[in-house]
Amino acid sequence: MSRDSDRPRASDTGSEITTQVLVLGAGPGGYTAAFRAADLGLDVVLVERHETLGGVCLNVGCIPSKALLHVAKVIADAEQASEHGVTFGPPTVDLGALREWRDGVVGRLTGGLAAMAKQRGVRVVRGEGRLTSANVLEVAGTRITFEHAILATGSRALRLPGIPHEDPRVMSSTEALALAEVPRRLLVIGGGIIGLELATIYDALGSQVTVVELADQLIPGCDPDLIAPLRRRIAGRYAAIHLRTRIASLQADEEGLRATFAHAAGTSGEASSVVEPAVFDRALVAVGRVPNSDALGLEDTGVAIDERGFVTVDSQLRTSVAHIHAIGDLVGAPMLAHKATHQAKVAAEVLAGHDVEFDVRGIPSVAYTDPEIAWVGLTETEAERAGTAYRSVSFPWAASGRALASSANGLTKLLVDPESNRVLGAGIVGAGAGELIAAPGLALELEVDTEDIALTVHAHPTLAETVAFAAEVAEGTVTDLPRARSRVGGREQ
Ligand code: FAD
Repeated sequence: MSRDSDRPRASDTGSEITTQVLVLGAGPGGYTAAFRAADLGLDVVLVERHETLGGVCLNVGCIPSKALLHVAKVIADAEQASEHGVTFGPPTVDLGALREWRDGVVGRLTGGLAAMAKQRGVRVVRGEGRLTSANVLEVAGTRITFEHAILATGSRALRLPGIPHEDPRVMSSTEALALAEVPRRLLVIGGGIIGLELATIYDALGSQVTVVELADQLIPGCDPDLIAPLRRRIAGRYAAIHLRTRIASLQADEEGLRATFAHAAGTSGEASSVVEPAVFDRALVAVGRVPNSDALGLEDTGVAIDERGFVTVDSQLRTSVAHIHAIGDLVGAPMLAHKATHQAKVAAEVLAGHDVEFDVRGIPSVAYTDPEIAWVGLTETEAERAGTAYRSVSFPWAASGRALASSANGLTKLLVDPESNRVLGAGIVGAGAGELIAAPGLALELEVDTEDIALTVHAHPTLAETVAFAAEVAEGTVTDLPRARSRVGGREQ
């Protein structure tokens, strides 16, 4: 156990601590809640079982994956440069140096968090915490009595039954990011965002990647037109992509991991052709995440969970026990760091007596694949399922000077209210889509319409312009296309 601050506090004797606010878990949700509560003048204790702060996101999620994806992009850009008359030789990858660089990025961020906790007077207690009542947490022999708690214990990778997870060649995302080696043949089980980001890294480093996905498209939930450019690119690079397919068995022996496949029952569309058994050197299991709610002692507190183990909360992130809040992955989808941090601030402010709630119009989702895919707010898939009236307007990057000049393929689309032209959602596929989605996200939150966007002068030539051009399509003022392309409720106009 370590104490990181000398700030005066309510009571703190030996192995007994009393505090106004206990925050359990120091991921993006937990550290943000702790820092915001301290900034609001509350006495805060932050409990974390790992030595470093930052949770999954900083240590084994968002940040190390983006560091490695950056390297993958450098490799891909160098390959693509040969199309423009500049040829580099095949890369020589020093895995040790790459791991060191990744760890340096993570270390700078997690070290910064420890310093900021200290500066704010947030006491950090290390150890696995367990609630023994609605006001007491036991951790590493210390009893912490609290007035309020914010639970932010996050999630962990789901394990599949019948898979030899104990074999070191069968990896979760954490082990895949550890980059023990670059396997010759990699099987990625799960074609969601995490699986495809790691596939992007290993493909760039030289693995032959096979992806197997249960659903009838990659990144289920994302609009199919946004997936198409990614699908086209990886279909030409990966060993295979099997949709509507499940792993029937995976057996580990000396030669490798022997996989057999089966058609996924209940999926729409035609059955994919019979997938022959195959041998892989490593497999990544990325089939979803489950909340860390089972070992917290919640049963001794009265805090309610749903049938999947997520803690249920109201719009102020209050659990069924009024003085206990919960945030982040622990409370369900979307399991994203920026959702956790926003909920964290609301929870801390509610404890400080502010009249606020978590009420947002959109939470952006980004797949940092190559190309990137990003969307925010309403999707066409959701709109069609719910019967929501919308108009889809899009601008193909084939007509963008900046996209052409940088060999970027892509599409920018806005979904707008057919009556008011107010932005309801947006989707972008192409280089930097994760950055570009910020502007439509702001438009959504501010209830902006396409006239506002079209009349905003965007710098030329930029990819950001494509958002304005899509808005001009809605307004009928676009001059960068032969004619406006628009659809009402999915129908061509
Ligand atoms: P976590 O980050 O899971 O933190 C929970 C913390 O609680 C952990 O530090 C854990 O050790 C601690 N804890 C748990 N139980 C206890 C206990 N009993 N006692 C003490 N401590 C405990 N999201 C994005 O937005 N963008 C991305 O690009 C992105 N990339 C990702 C890539 C990968 C490979 C993965 C796995 C995830 C990625 N995510 C991304 C998701 C993101 O990491 C999570 O949504 C985010 O970390 C959730 O934050 P959290 O604070 O709710 O929980």
